[in-house]
Amino acid sequence: MERANAIPIRAYARLLRDYLQPQMPRALLLGVLLLASIALRLANPQIVRYFLDSAEAQTGIERLFSAAALFMAVAIVRQIVVVAATYASENVAWTATNALRADLALHCLKLDMSFHKQYKPGELIERVDGDVNQLANFFSQLVVNLFGNLLLVAGVLVLLLLQDWRLGLAITGATLAGLLALNWLNSRVIPRWERLRETEAQLFGSIEEWLNGTEEIRSSGAEPYILRRLYMWLRERWLRVIAAMRVQVWIFTLPINVFALAYVAAHLIGNTLFSDGSLTIGALFVIFYYIDLVKGPLWGILDQVQELQRATASIVRITELRGIQPTIHDGPGVTFPAGPLAVAFEDVSFHYADDPASRVLKDITFRLQPGTVLGLLGRTGSGKSTLTRLLFRFYDPSGGTIRLDAEDIRRARQTELRDRIGMVTQEVQLFRATVRQNLTLFDDTVPDERVLAVVREVGLDGWLAGLPRGLDTVLESGGGLSAGEAQLLAFARIFLADPGVVILDEASSRLDPATEARIEHAVDRLMAGRTGIIIAHRLGTVQRADEIMILDEGRIIEYGARADLAADAASRFSQLLRTGLEEVMA
Ligand code: ATP
Ligand code: MG
Repeated sequence: MERANAIPIRAYARLLRDYLQPQMPRALLLGVLLLASIALRLANPQIVRYFLDSAEAQTGIERLFSAAALFMAVAIVRQIVVVAATYASENVAWTATNALRADLALHCLKLDMSFHKQYKPGELIERVDGDVNQLANFFSQLVVNLFGNLLLVAGVLVLLLLQDWRLGLAITGATLAGLLALNWLNSRVIPRWERLRETEAQLFGSIEEWLNGTEEIRSSGAEPYILRRLYMWLRERWLRVIAAMRVQVWIFTLPINVFALAYVAAHLIGNTLFSDGSLTIGALFVIFYYIDLVKGPLWGILDQVQELQRATASIVRITELRGIQPTIHDGPGVTFPAGPLAVAFEDVSFHYADDPASRVLKDITFRLQPGTVLGLLGRTGSGKSTLTRLLFRFYDPSGGTIRLDAEDIRRARQTELRDRIGMVTQEVQLFRATVRQNLTLFDDTVPDERVLAVVREVGLDGWLAGLPRGLDTVLESGGGLSAGEAQLLAFARIFLADPGVVILDEASSRLDPATEARIEHAVDRLMAGRTGIIIAHRLGTVQRADEIMILDEGRIIEYGARADLAADAASRFSQLLRTGLEEVMA
């Protein structure tokens, strides 16, 4: 972590360039409006001074009227400028942050599976939305305002110095001392706010995890444990807020004290100067007015520096996130032929973590002819799902080569690969969208007749007929469908995509016999004319395989044609058949 108040100018500049350049005219207009509003604020007291001095010199009522009219005009124009600037700044900020949000979301989607395993969705939301929210002002007015306010304060101090150097010096001293103290306090408070945000990211990550696991938590009676954890996080957050507020409160009160000092100086010095006649009443007014005027910008600078530092923390995190690069890259591209494809693993090894000692797959070699179906068996944790994830290129093997239709899959683009391989995982993800969108995966070009034909093919037509609005019924993510129906829906997706290779990671949950029969039937249809890898948990599905492979601790311990293995009484497969697949594998 970088030191909180060491401002990473380059990262700032890059973000500003990337997200303001596309809306340059609007951003420039905003800059002009903001500077104009600051300049107008400086102009008004000079008019009042003219008014007062004219009144004292008794130079006639017309002058007073015109001064008053000018004063009002300037005040009104300033209000209009402020409104316009606010509008423009919201506009610029939203355009920039929305573009950044979209870029970050896309970036995250492109990152490796290992990245997504590491970060909880709640944490990512906090990055893509929470951190970006912090940047809204940064993009629109922060830089201009900070600059403008510094200019304003400097301008006032110069005007005061010109008016009377002793007065100017005293007030400059008080202001400088105040700013230094502020800067010091700020450097203390920022890390504390940052720790608060970290705690919040973790809190939301946990909440997201708990909400996802509501069923498990309830069924295992873990509510008291979760509540205790929640309480601990909330307490942690509370402590962090208090720690930050302890410093923050000094920051809140500091400007008030600085100004008390400035007024005292102005009274003492102004009084003497007025008594010996070296100041007019108008000049005296201007001095007090300017001290008052400097108050706003100083508060503003304080706010803006804090915001800049908060933005710093967010920018550092966003830059970090943008810096993470996927390790899976597209190859030059391959055109796979239509129809079933051959699959080959050559000496494939793989480990998830950086530690090569923890290999999940070891020297896997096999070859599937186009159109054959492989039944993959093995105890839980033996590496079956992992093997299929490699074929899909969620991860790259740490050794060896995987070929699809004799091409190294690393030579293909990921979209080409995923177009030609279909996968049904153990858990089917439903989206909160219509049945049609859930089936076509948001591809609106698929005609309804095709969708309906596929629904009939997998045997979901009865279910569809029972839905209130047919294909337009909105499904709730995660709910509403039985495990069997969800599997069938996933099959239907594959039918629509019509890939050459199908991977089926069968759900190990038990289904009722009727649903099981429907699934078997659908698997039959699914495998026809395609190469298949089925991770089977049911005897029925295994019977469909042409070849059988048994994995144990990442190694192939048996591999051959199903008929041969079943006939050989000494094989592990026939042993499994005798004792019952479900008992051994579950
Ligand atoms: P099951 O029958 O229970 O689905 P499986 O054969 O599919 O088991 P895999 O999911 O391939 O088993 O897991 C193989 C090994 O890899 C296990 O020891 C598991 O703990 C480990 N593993 C799986 N996924 C990851 C991951 N994302 N990061 C680290 N290790 C993992
Ligand atoms: Mg698995």
